[in-house]
Amino acid sequence: MPIERRKTRQIHVGPVAIGGGSPISIQSMTKTHTHDVEGTVRQIRELEKAGCDIVRVAVPDKPSAEAIKKIKVAIKIPLIADIHYDHRLALVALEGGANGIRLNPGNLKEEDRIRQIIDAAKAHKVAIRIGVNAGSVDAVYPKEGPLRHEAREAFIQKMIHRGVEYLRFFERHHFTELKISMKLSNVQDTIESYRRMAKVSDYPFHLGVTEAGLPRDGAIKSALGIGALLLEGIGDTLRVSLTGDPVEEVEVGKRILQFLELRDFGPELIACPSCGRADIDLIQLVEAAEKRLRELGKSQADLVGVKIALMGCEVNGPGEAKDADIGIAAGKGQGMIFKKGQMIRRVKESEMVEALVQEMLNIERTS
Ligand code: SF4
Repeated sequence: MPIERRKTRQIHVGPVAIGGGSPISIQSMTKTHTHDVEGTVRQIRELEKAGCDIVRVAVPDKPSAEAIKKIKVAIKIPLIADIHYDHRLALVALEGGANGIRLNPGNLKEEDRIRQIIDAAKAHKVAIRIGVNAGSVDAVYPKEGPLRHEAREAFIQKMIHRGVEYLRFFERHHFTELKISMKLSNVQDTIESYRRMAKVSDYPFHLGVTEAGLPRDGAIKSALGIGALLLEGIGDTLRVSLTGDPVEEVEVGKRILQFLELRDFGPELIACPSCGRADIDLIQLVEAAEKRLRELGKSQADLVGVKIALMGCEVNGPGEAKDADIGIAAGKGQGMIFKKGQMIRRVKESEMVEALVQEMLNIERTS
């Protein structure tokens, strides 16, 4: 069943359209000190190579805000400045060419400061993300206690109320180039806050689960939280937050979108879990194949939708993966290449990955 996307307004961050039926974009955030121009540019280029659509950088101080100008000339993807507390940093970032601002109006305190950012955003024709989170509400998020569910319900209600208040404030100042996020670290409550906001607003949503954790937990939390919302058609751009390499954030984001068939990023690798029947170290084989596919580059539009299977044994492998366009079932010291469950040829173990890649490229050439 195709996912019916929530109808929203459309805004732009640089050339990337968000909402209004545009492809769901993937964002990440650098982990360098932004004033370290060289290190930040290096990380952004890695993100670009991985397929990141939009990058965000932290702007905690003046040197970081001033660095944006130098960073912008060295990168290709649009850049969003993440601003807390000091509105003047947003003004410097916009002067430096930032394509968007992310702020939590709550921590800028005075309305006049937000208005100054709005005026500058209008002048530079850039979008703003309103980041509503637990800190936006004058209450402590109820983590424990027998009545925590009731207390969280009230907390989410306050978040929605605050989010709507912020939106109305921007609208009063004739600014509608907005997207909004409703992040919490609890998966269920994050889902619930976005769901409720979707009922009262038609602005595009930036999805994310905040403080998601180390890569394994973070990927699971994000797949659950972001994935559940995407399945309901909610979400226009996303960031998977991981305590780790930002490239990994992009990889996880791409997989979430690819597995939900919301975007295609080239061939899909599937593998059996392996078991006592396997005659090969399947983990090593999958890692080698994944590395080789990555080396082929991200622009594999011709291979979109191609399913590649890596199976641990010849007995069950081809049958278990008969949906795959191409696959390999490993035997003792050799492997069987199969297409749609039918064997084509046998190859030596040392040649399996390369033979698979060649067959895959062949599918593309002959299809
Ligand atoms: S394909 Fe073979 S090795 Fe893989 S899980 Fe199935 S039976 Fe086990």
